[in-house]
Amino acid sequence: MNPKTRVVVIITFSSILSFCAFKYTDKWSDFKPYLPSICKTFNSSRLVENSYSNLDPQNQKSEKLSWLDWFLPSNKVELRTKTPWNAPILWEGTFNRTYLEEYYRNNPVTIGLTVFALGKYLDKYLEKFLASADKHFMPGHKVIYYVMVDDHSKLPYIEYGTSRFLKPRVVAKEARWQDVSMMRMKTLTDMLQDFIKDEVDYVFCMDVDMDFRAPYGVETLGELVAQAQAWFMNSPNTAFTYERRPESKAYIEMGQGDFYYHAAVFGGTPSRVLDLVRSCYAGIMEDKKNNIEAVWHDESHLNKYFLEHKPTLILSPEYCWDYKIHAEMEHVKLAWAMKDYAEVRDNV
Ligand code: UDP
Ligand code: MN
Repeated sequence: MNPKTRVVVIITFSSILSFCAFKYTDKWSDFKPYLPSICKTFNSSRLVENSYSNLDPQNQKSEKLSWLDWFLPSNKVELRTKTPWNAPILWEGTFNRTYLEEYYRNNPVTIGLTVFALGKYLDKYLEKFLASADKHFMPGHKVIYYVMVDDHSKLPYIEYGTSRFLKPRVVAKEARWQDVSMMRMKTLTDMLQDFIKDEVDYVFCMDVDMDFRAPYGVETLGELVAQAQAWFMNSPNTAFTYERRPESKAYIEMGQGDFYYHAAVFGGTPSRVLDLVRSCYAGIMEDKKNNIEAVWHDESHLNKYFLEHKPTLILSPEYCWDYKIHAEMEHVKLAWAMKDYAEVRDNV
């Protein structure tokens, strides 16, 4: 072969080789199942999943954890354990704590807890609320306390446990207690939007006039979590103290409604809670414009929201019990504090 022919042959041969290599990579996906298992763990679906988790980690987590794996309603046939739309109602004994702890050990989450303590509520309730939360709220998991006060010098000193972080914030106190309660919806909207949504996987928003008595754990995590108000658990919906005036945005027609929900506790993923607080705040402001105030303030708007957006998980009264109903209640995780209204409220 003369040198010229040799060059032509080499060029032709290498062109064929590059063409084959190109076709081979083009068919890469066909070969993927035959890769060794170490490569499989780094395949594209894992990457897609990770990029989705960055967008909304909560939804990914709640999808992966199925009720079927941990919810045990048949353990408590004597209790109401499912809503008409098939969401669990949590009672002690209806969940497999071991399974859940194992799941969250492998899929760690950060849980936010927001609480407001302004005026006399700061002196009277905050220390006990936080100290008891540190002991019983999500034990063993990472928690950020978002504590809103009107006087930072009165923040109680508490030795927080490991993986517990305090993020205090000073907010102005409204003159009327009704407005303090309602304007939490505005502050929460701003905070969830500005930073809480980037810092936690789940968030609970609670009143301060309560204290934890027993582990309030990861079984309560869900996309949109509501608390059944203890006094109304067994009442017909016609007895619920919903707002009944059609002029209010919180109006619920007589005969409508599933539960009477307690505004002292609600939670879920940041995006679901943000939608809730934003919507309640919009209703409150619309009512103010129309010179009407719903009978139970933010709670009335919350009940309207949950009528239209069904919670994915309901907490039974064990999760927010009033010992005035009866003192022998078992498995209480969070209890209403004794409240002298004349003492803590400046106006009626
Ligand atoms: N709150 C407060 N200072 C006030 C009034 C209300 O910090 O002067 C906050 C506090 O977190 C309280 C919540 O708003 O728990 C709701 O008010 P309250 O507990 O009095 O309502 P209730 O549970 O009696 O409906
Ligand atoms: Mn309260």
